[in-house]
Amino acid sequence: VLTTYNTNPVVIAGGGVAGLATANALASRGIRSIVLEKTSAPGTIDRGDIVHQASLALFERWGVGAVLHNYNYIEFSKFQILNNFGKCLFSIDISHDERIDAVFTSIKHPDIERLLEESAMRTGMVTVIRDTPVSDLIFEGTRVRGVKTSAGDFAGSLVVIANGARSRIRDNYFLQQVRHEYPVSFYNALFKQKNGSQKGGTYVLGSRGVMVIVPLPGDEIRIGIQQRADRSDNKITRGNVKNIIAELLTTLNVEELELVESHHYPLTMSLSNPLWIPGAVLVGDAAHTTHPVGGQGMNLAFQDAEALANALSASSAESTRLDRACSRYSSERISKVRKILRSTHILGNMGIYEHYMWVRFREVLLTTFNKSSFVKRLVLYRIVNSS
Ligand SMILES: Cc1cc2nc3c(=O)[nH]c(=O)nc-3n(C[C@H](O)[C@H](O)[C@H](O)COP(=O)(O)OP(=O)(O)OC[C@H]3O[C@@H](n4cnc5c(N)ncnc54)[C@H](O)[C@@H]3O)c2cc1C
Repeated sequence: VLTTYNTNPVVIAGGGVAGLATANALASRGIRSIVLEKTSAPGTIDRGDIVHQASLALFERWGVGAVLHNYNYIEFSKFQILNNFGKCLFSIDISHDERIDAVFTSIKHPDIERLLEESAMRTGMVTVIRDTPVSDLIFEGTRVRGVKTSAGDFAGSLVVIANGARSRIRDNYFLQQVRHEYPVSFYNALFKQKNGSQKGGTYVLGSRGVMVIVPLPGDEIRIGIQQRADRSDNKITRGNVKNIIAELLTTLNVEELELVESHHYPLTMSLSNPLWIPGAVLVGDAAHTTHPVGGQGMNLAFQDAEALANALSASSAESTRLDRACSRYSSERISKVRKILRSTHILGNMGIYEHYMWVRFREVLLTTFNKSSFVKRLVLYRIVNSS
């Protein structure tokens, strides 16, 4: 069954977490791949640092777990929602729930890319070619047979499109069934924290705005600040970011923060349907994007990789069987991703409305939820079983 994949490997356009995870998942099933990535080295993406428990299980299955220990990571068990004055509205400590053996694992995103690449190379089944942007698909009739790059054409039994949310290839050849531009964007900033006091994940939700704080290895923290796209009066810049953080969480000592780097991200919810055309499939952000509030995007990409590799391993590289496998992958993922998009959309919108009455109601709702072990269990279930 695998001989055809060996002579005609899978071509993966994009070597971010989705593309590299797919290469690992395929390699674990004995399927060869070539990853074509436009950048010369990992490190340009600064979003998605928390690996969910379900994704760690996939890392183990793909053999990535062995490489993980060469990289800096931290584990934490606490997550809290605070208002702008540091009052706790909702909190979870996973370690207190004896029935769930789970932690939040925090690794800087470029390190996740590095470890996935290192692990893929170790399998001997993956070739990663950098500095090689994919410019278009190559068709034979209506079937995709490969990709065009500045370094020449690459033919493959299947093309996996993993080049992120702004994929022009996706826009040109696939239908997007869902597309919603949020009226807010995220300013994502990496800080060195002098005393390393941030030990858990924090979501700040108040009348002054929304902010997400994630602890990282090496006494660093990532702070994502939500800002309305239509507001030009108070744009966040490197110069004013610390003042804005001090306003959003008055109990955080911003004097301890030293800005390392920052980027601005527009936010979109999107889903292509179907995720395949003859000879090509979408994975990761090229397939779907979600509001970042649930920390789901990267973890969905890992689940895509596993589902695709699973479907392909049960098929040969012969066209009809491959199409059936891709169609199966597409329906499986669309039904699961749709549910996640729905719940993150609701959560995301909870932090977008700013009316005073809504903010009050939200605080009461969260403090009520905080007393419910049923709600906490639901949240934990999502963390452990992201699909
Ligand atoms: C503000 C914000 C915060 C987020 N926080 C989280 C979080 O906490 N947890 C989480 O799980 N997710 C989070 N996400 C989502 C997460 O970052 C993405 O889902 C994840 O990075 C998607 O991986 P990807 O490989 O599909 O795309 P990308 O990470 O965008 O990678 C695409 C790759 O393709 C390459 N590429 C692009 N064009 C080409 C081309 N033409 N040819 C070859 N290569 C190309 C790029 O250089 C890049 O390496 C967040 C997103 C945002 C916007």
